Amino acid sequence: MSTLFKYCAYCGGTLQQGTVSRVQQVCSKCGEVFWNNPLPGVVVIIHDWRGRVLLGRRSKSQKREGFWSLPGGFVERGETYRDAAIREVQEETGLTVDPIGLHDVISNLNAAEPDTLVVVLLAWIQGDTKTEPGDDFDALVWQQPNTELPPMAFAADEMVVRRFQAGDWNVVSRAGNNFTDGEGI
Ligand SMILES: [Zn+2]
Repeated sequence: MSTLFKYCAYCGGTLQQGTVSRVQQVCSKCGEVFWNNPLPGVVVIIHDWRGRVLLGRRSKSQKREGFWSLPGGFVERGETYRDAAIREVQEETGLTVDPIGLHDVISNLNAAEPDTLVVVLLAWIQGDTKTEPGDDFDALVWQQPNTELPPMAFAADEMVVRRFQAGDWNVVSRAGNNFTDGEGI
């Protein structure tokens, strides 16, 4: 089990191993269980009709600086995955996009960082096509199909870009499903 935290966020007690269905981190003082759930993220395949895909080079502020990735980031509280995709693309590329559909969902199991659960969306540009790297990227490139990819930061990005450029434009669901009734699992 990866132990991501040392202290309880509620009472400051020390976390120790306990068994709650499986082995989890449990607060020794108040008993709160730390599930260390995967963090929800989005990445966006921004493409044109020729199958070109927009990639960004990760800037100094980012893990894996100098390597390339799809635009994307974490879903914030109060935000749908679609909103998160639109916001992240705007921040990182200057583009306004219309996420047209859900393409894939990927689990990344990481040894030293929190796991992530990443929603992969396909999107078209809306309006102005001028790109401006911002925030997490210092360069952007339109990756042509049937050309060598630059060194990619994440295996999952590499897989989805390769597969998309090989002709899989499949959309499994329209993007935008969200509910506000507050029902938990
Ligand atoms: Zn506690």
